[in-house]
Amino acid sequence: MSRHAPRIAIVGVAGRMGRTLVNAVEQEAGATLAGGIVEPGSSLVGTDIGELAGQGKLGVTAVDSLAAIVDDFDVLIDFTAPQVTLSNLAFCAEHGKRMVVGTTGMNDAELAELDGYRAKLPMVFAPNMSVGVNLTLKLLETAAKALGDEGYDIEVIEAHHRHKVDAPSGTALKMGEVVAESLGRSLDEHGVFTREGQCGPRTDKEIGFATVRAGDIVGEHTVMFATEGERIEITHKASSRMTFAKGAVRAARWVADKEIGRYDMQDVLALN
Ligand code: NAD
Repeated sequence: MSRHAPRIAIVGVAGRMGRTLVNAVEQEAGATLAGGIVEPGSSLVGTDIGELAGQGKLGVTAVDSLAAIVDDFDVLIDFTAPQVTLSNLAFCAEHGKRMVVGTTGMNDAELAELDGYRAKLPMVFAPNMSVGVNLTLKLLETAAKALGDEGYDIEVIEAHHRHKVDAPSGTALKMGEVVAESLGRSLDEHGVFTREGQCGPRTDKEIGFATVRAGDIVGEHTVMFATEGERIEITHKASSRMTFAKGAVRAARWVADKEIGRYDMQDVLALN
């Protein structure tokens, strides 16, 4: 833990997560809210970010570039979109900043580009920052190893609000990866992401994904291990974005004094 409260800036501060992050940083004694960035050219430039987040004025106004606040912050929290995050990584690496990245929906090329920054700045990257989900990942690893490589059909089911742009969720993919790795499988080979028409019976080793998009669901994930005679379901339900935001602020405080490298929430929570 850093001896000094890290100064935190939030990019995408007008977004659903951005506004929740403002409230989470404000509630955190060990961190200082130092800046908020909105999309270039946004009409929200100059707005107090406390008002954006539904509280009173906090004395920090929204800007539309990192350069405008380069001397004001230590750690950038980024929950935006893949290309935005990649350009922010370049900026932060160049200027000696640290990052907490929650953005999901990166393709393989974008993930490879992000991974290249592991040698350039300290960053925490996790598709789900909630403490409960990260504990769930640990439980899934234990369950998969105990149930073994045969006999149990594995399906991952997730549900999110109607505005979510990527599917399946980054968390669902992460859960599938953890289970696959524990069983010596890979999602490239065994992941099944669509079933339609005469698709035939399931194969023994496939890991199936199903996606629900509806209303205001914050995020629900179930991994099912089913065999003849019994079914085990491990479920996590988020009821507020605050759980992700609090995890991100915890990660920002944690990464504030870490060496250059790529870390995840398992590292932050010492679950590794
Ligand atoms: P959102 O659309 O409400 O917010 C994204 C914000 O980014 C918008 O306000 C947009 O204006 C802003 N933005 C876009 N380009 C920008 C730029 N160049 N500079 C500054 N701001 C820019 O979306 P959301 O629901 O807040 O989710 C954002 C991302 O976070 C998604 O990828 C989502 O899947 C992910 N997410 C991750 C977690 C986690 O725990 N890791 C949890 C929730 C959401």
